[in-house]
Amino acid sequence: MRALHWFRSDLRSIDNTALSAACSKADEGVVALFVISPAEWLAHDVAPVRLSLTLRTLRELSTTLASLNIPLLIAHAAKPADVPRAVLDVARRHNCAELFFNKEYEVNEASRDAATIAAFQDDGRRAHAFTDQSVVEPGDVRTGEGRFFTVFTPFKKALYKHLQAKGGVFTRPAPRKQPATNIRPDPVPETVAGFESAIAPELWPAGEVHAQKRLDTFIAKHIVQYKDRRDLPAQDGTSVLSPYLAIGAISPRQCIAAALAANARSASPFDTGPEGITHWISEVVWREFYIHIVAGFPRVCMHRAFQIGTDRIVWNRNEAHLQAWKQGRTGVPIVDAGMRQLLATGWMHNRVRMVVAMYLTKNLFLDWREGEKHFMRHLVDGFLASNNGGWQWSASTGTDAAPYFRIFNPVSQSTKFDPSGDYIRANVTELASLTADEIHEPWKLPGLVRARLVYPEPLVDLSRSREKAIAAFAALKG
Ligand SMILES: Cc1cc2nc3c(=O)[nH]c(=O)nc-3n(C[C@H](O)[C@H](O)[C@H](O)COP(=O)(O)OP(=O)(O)OC[C@H]3O[C@@H](n4cnc5c(N)ncnc54)[C@H](O)[C@@H]3O)c2cc1C
Repeated sequence: MRALHWFRSDLRSIDNTALSAACSKADEGVVALFVISPAEWLAHDVAPVRLSLTLRTLRELSTTLASLNIPLLIAHAAKPADVPRAVLDVARRHNCAELFFNKEYEVNEASRDAATIAAFQDDGRRAHAFTDQSVVEPGDVRTGEGRFFTVFTPFKKALYKHLQAKGGVFTRPAPRKQPATNIRPDPVPETVAGFESAIAPELWPAGEVHAQKRLDTFIAKHIVQYKDRRDLPAQDGTSVLSPYLAIGAISPRQCIAAALAANARSASPFDTGPEGITHWISEVVWREFYIHIVAGFPRVCMHRAFQIGTDRIVWNRNEAHLQAWKQGRTGVPIVDAGMRQLLATGWMHNRVRMVVAMYLTKNLFLDWREGEKHFMRHLVDGFLASNNGGWQWSASTGTDAAPYFRIFNPVSQSTKFDPSGDYIRANVTELASLTADEIHEPWKLPGLVRARLVYPEPLVDLSRSREKAIAAFAALKG
């Protein structure tokens, strides 16, 4: 049997469940495939910087696969509905009797995969879908009543129990070298029309080898201080592995297994031992939790609030405010620093993501879906489950969300988490000359100093806008 492995958001050769299975089952070789599907990516707001990382990672992957005698082929689909046919055509052309892929759980992706399985079956071929994007198949861990968890902490406890019962987290066997075929790999395009990225590729080195190196360095040098440094955007306190997890250049199993190995001396390495390690594992589990939410509550993929009642909120409509937020010109330095970091690099620190998201949804009272879309269009790590989860948490419309009356004050967040102002200075250069005391609230500077700054006045009064948002939510709950 010759197997076809279909790569999507699992762009690695190591610890790849479906690829590993294809390589051990096939006895007449394995062919690999990636489908270029711009209309699908456009509909899903895939950011050019994310696609740049994807294409560069594919190029590296193609070389690695070639050393295993697995040719990486590239197919094209003009419309999302053409994808199943494009995959089947490759299987027919190269006599691949069985298709292997790792599951994706978003509504459109799941129905595309169901259509592909049906097309293979109708053609007398077989298709196998594997759990790989999350450590545990969504739905395998449930509440005592058999429901999907909707609150993080009990989910995490149940997940740990489930994994401990299995003896830990284990990576998959490396793919076996295949017999040579005479199929030549396709060249991976440099770019795809409409997705040209202005962000320097050097900012996001590509490939699974780089991702693994980043993980190793983080575990060796930073994880122990993670709890103390993770909220400080001016420091390198977090792993910055999210872009690599999003495209699958590294797996959550590899991440958790490496953290558990670093905590091997602890009797219960998931949740006891150095706090930096246990806290980091817990953050990776947030990603897992949001994947389970996407699979269990598909409405979150369809622009609907998780808390159904909150769909009745009448958000403000103010294009000028929305544009100012997108461009980092709100007049609130920490918000502008985050939004400019996003535009300049494709990434934003988690603490600042929460601050800018709360500011958009509570102070400007603009629809979280506008923020979700803008993030997706610019993030190198854009990932529906985590992005939607983060936005709905901030907007108080999601699972386990921030209570509507607990609204971050961006100035207190700024003084607490960027006390020196270095993060603001690095991203809002027109404020670089201000001292740590001045930089968080430039509107309080004496008139003459203020007049010399080319920096906008705040769009809204922070405390009045906060009260209005609380009143709007309270009225809804009432
Ligand atoms: C409004 C908003 C939007 C977000 N959009 C995305 C997104 O599109 N893609 C994305 O990967 N993350 C998103 N996040 C989550 C989080 O901000 C990033 O995962 C994190 O900043 C990535 O940095 P890191 O890799 O250094 O994380 P680390 O702190 O090193 O954490 C390790 C890994 O755990 C996962 N993780 C950490 N925090 C979270 C979290 N709160 N939710 C889900 N997973 C988490 C990530 O995969 C991360 O790479 C969003 C958060 C918010 C508040």
